Order: sequence, then C-alpha cells, then structure tokens
Amino acid sequence: MSARRFQPVDSRGRHTPQDAGAAVSGSESPAGSRIHNSSPLRRASLMQEPVLVLNATYEPINVTAVRRAMVLMLKGVAQAEELHSSEVHSSAKSHRVPSVIRLLAYRHIPQQSRALSRKNILLRDRNTCQFCGRVFPGSELTLDHVVPRSRGGRSTWENLVACCYNCNNSKGDRTPEEAGFKLARRPRPFTLHTSRQLMRLIGHRDERWRKYLFY
Ligand SMILES: [Zn+2]
Repeated sequence: MSARRFQPVDSRGRHTPQDAGAAVSGSESPAGSRIHNSSPLRRASLMQEPVLVLNATYEPINVTAVRRAMVLMLKGVAQAEELHSSEVHSSAKSHRVPSVIRLLAYRHIPQQSRALSRKNILLRDRNTCQFCGRVFPGSELTLDHVVPRSRGGRSTWENLVACCYNCNNSKGDRTPEEAGFKLARRPRPFTLHTSRQLMRLIGHRDERWRKYLFY
C-alpha cells in the first residue's frame, strides 16, 4: 500500500482515501466491477462504517470510521486485525475494508476523550425516551436538556437525555419536576464503563468484534 496515492485532505485535515478516486464494491456487485460513479452513496456509507480500534495491548479503546481506520493503516500507525468482506478500490489495487484495527504502538488514552454527540447520547440511552420509556428510531428522537438551557442547564453528558418529540413538546421549558416527568434513570457522565458499553452497542451486529469486547 502506498500512502502517497491518497493525498487529498478532508475538512479536519485528515487524508481521505475516498476523495482520491477510491471506489467501493460489496458482495452484491459483479466481480471486478467498479462502482465508483454508480454508487457514491453506498461508497460513502461504507467509508462511514464503524471500525473497532484496539490499543497495542488488544484493549478496545475507540470506535472510528472505515475512512479514518484506513488512513491509520496507510500511515503505518495501525494494522487490520479483522476484515470486512467489502473492498475499496484505489487506482491500482483493491483493499479489504477493516472491521477491527490495532495500534502498533501503545497509546495512553485519557478518560474524558469520548465525544459528547447526539449519536453517543442516543446510544447511551439505547434510543429510549427517558421520560416515557419508549424505544424510537433515532430520527424520532431529539435531545432534551433536563435542566432547560433557559434556566442555566448546560450541554453535558449529565444534562442531556434522549427524548421523543411528544415528551419534549409537553415538557417545554420546564424541569422534569415542574412538568411532572420522571427520568427513567439519571443521565450518567462518561466513564470507561459507558465507553465499553457504547462499543458493544455499536458493534453488536459485527461478529468480528465479539472476541475483543465480550470476555
Ligand atoms: Zn417520550
């Protein structure tokens, strides 16, 4: 693999193999065919597929996207431990897409590195509205500030919960007590436990992650 083939850099300053003419084919495309132009959506979605990142010690430390994982491999920072059946084609070669990668040098991971994001909050709350207790698809959930922003509530792990639009509307600009709502459970801050739980939730569909996460 040559890192030089993948020169373009995305908005975060990372090299992006996709932008350098890489195309993706999956099991349903005819053997050897390129679907570079015919299926940009599929290629984009494959490049966004989650990849489990292991430390040099095989300890699971993060989840990243295929695109980022392949950059780490091209830079020689990580190697693939498990591979998807799908492939990415660059100009001359095709590469199996990684499912699990391992850093080649041990890296100390600070505890608070997990990003606060809508996706992670929904994962933590298992797509369950924390007020009515019902499970929804992500598109039907919003984030609720338990203590409203207008009352000084901040955007933190401890003050944000998954909430359906119905509950969000009826709660309005009130605290749960004022609205007569009860939280299903107190929103937990980020911990290593949360992190491992998130990895298991993200990876429960991928058999190849199991031996690294369930033991
Ligand atoms: Zn609800």
